[in-house]
Amino acid sequence: MDELSLLADLHREGQRQGPGGVEETRLAIRLSGLRAWTGLKIADIGCGTGASSLVLAQDLKADVTAVDFLPDFLEKLDRTAQAAGLDHRITTHAASMEALSFADASLDAIWSEGAIYNMGFAQGIQSWRRFLKPGGILAVSELTWLTRERPAELTDHWMRAYPEVDTASAKMAVLEDNGFAPTGYFALPRHCWLDNYYRPLQARFANFLSRHAADPMAAELVAAEEAEIALYERNADYVSYGFYIARKTTD
Ligand code: SAH
Repeated sequence: MDELSLLADLHREGQRQGPGGVEETRLAIRLSGLRAWTGLKIADIGCGTGASSLVLAQDLKADVTAVDFLPDFLEKLDRTAQAAGLDHRITTHAASMEALSFADASLDAIWSEGAIYNMGFAQGIQSWRRFLKPGGILAVSELTWLTRERPAELTDHWMRAYPEVDTASAKMAVLEDNGFAPTGYFALPRHCWLDNYYRPLQARFANFLSRHAADPMAAELVAAEEAEIALYERNADYVSYGFYIARKTTD
């Protein structure tokens, strides 16, 4: 199995594939002002198995297009949406976030939790902006430094893994420089990482390793995840996902 298939196999059974939470998605919805809108068209980009797509479809009068490049995740979302009676509101779409085919100015909101880093924050907001109507909402969560000073092991790890990691003020400047007015920000609390993401992930390691006992890449993948978890546990005061809510300004 290649690395991406292994990752999909490890993460498919999770309710989410990154840090986040239902209450935090709801807080971002509140900060977005979208609750007052009707007939909404929203794209959830890098939706995974749809943790946020399901909340958006449930809480808003919205049609949600849930986009991910892994069909396995989308199949699971289709099943969950059907079981929750939300399938009339959620359409899944397998595509790369780097080659989206929405019409210009066709979306009221773009949502993306823990996924924009795959193409980079600046690149993502620049290339997705044209899909939003004027005044449309962008809501993204993104790896963010909580402090200016940090332990070197943390800075070194994330500067290697994701050099765009930065403070919230720097991320907001990127938004402002690219035609967005920030309207809300909060950092995900620790339980979004530990209780909602890392603990359930760790609980799947044993079965995953026995399913792929002959594959050294599976063991390497688990070791890398364990190292990331331990790094987070030592440094939770300094890093989180920031949730950025911003409005598209007129050109
Ligand atoms: N939003 C979900 C998933 C976050 S994990 C949640 O919060 O639970 C990041 C997701 O981005 C994964 O589902 C992964 O399959 C997807 N992804 C990674 N690179 C992508 C790309 N180039 N195009 C589309 N989706 C991508």
